Amino acid sequence: MSNAIISVKDLKKQYGTFEAVKGISFEVIQGEIFGLLGPNGAGKSTTLEIIETLRTKTSGEVIVDGFNLDTNPNNIKKVIGVQLQTSGFYPGLTLIELINLFAGLYNQSVNAAELLDKVNLRDKAKAKFKELSGGQKQRFSIATTLINKPKIIFLDEPTTGLDPQARRNLWELIKDIRNEGTTVILTTHYMDEAEVLCDRVAIIDSGKIIAIASPDKLIDDLVASGFERPKEVKKANLEDVFIQLTGKSIREEI
Ligand code: ADP
Ligand code: MG
Repeated sequence: MSNAIISVKDLKKQYGTFEAVKGISFEVIQGEIFGLLGPNGAGKSTTLEIIETLRTKTSGEVIVDGFNLDTNPNNIKKVIGVQLQTSGFYPGLTLIELINLFAGLYNQSVNAAELLDKVNLRDKAKAKFKELSGGQKQRFSIATTLINKPKIIFLDEPTTGLDPQARRNLWELIKDIRNEGTTVILTTHYMDEAEVLCDRVAIIDSGKIIAIASPDKLIDDLVASGFERPKEVKKANLEDVFIQLTGKSIREEI
């Protein structure tokens, strides 16, 4: 694929004698939302962190935006944005202070109010990080990935632990970021989320990629193989009830 912005070839990672990533190859196309799916321990975070230059690989080739990880890791760092765990933020600083801190680290000038606007947190500009709800913390941490105006952002389980409304709200934010031209690579345990959000997914199990395609294609292939889901009796589920009763938007923003 000529428009690949990330190209990974035969990537392997060993922790001691344990092989966590067993020779995986995949490409991420510029402008897409690419999902890495798989059970706990499959090797998703290891793979992301190697591409992010935060972890060493054992072997294989990684090219990001034309830069080879072996020879040009610093150039890779300049074109990517990485979401920190929410525990990585100084809890006592305000959102504006945190943004200015990161901007200083990246040597970037940034319009903090505009950035907070993008993630629907402008009215929280002077709130301390520790005062935010779980969903707000996640949105803020995604905002910080955008400070260095990256071409690609990496989100490792961005919606884990969020309530249904906050998850949906985050899906919209991630789509907005993609629609503005940023490539997104994320991991998730939620298949409904991957189906709504991802242009393509790779399913990884025990360090190997066992399928890679659009969600639509994977579903069609399964159906073509003769699979039939047991008929659903009801046309809605409990999550639909929850969303219907409580409203779609995040409560604290109403
Ligand atoms: P995932 O993100 O898919 O849950 P990880 O990439 O975190 O998986 O981990 C893949 C495997 O590598 C797991 O078996 C995990 O226990 C192991 N692992 C991860 N980090 C280390 C490490 N620093 N040292 C040893 N083993 C590790
Ligand atoms: Mg992980």
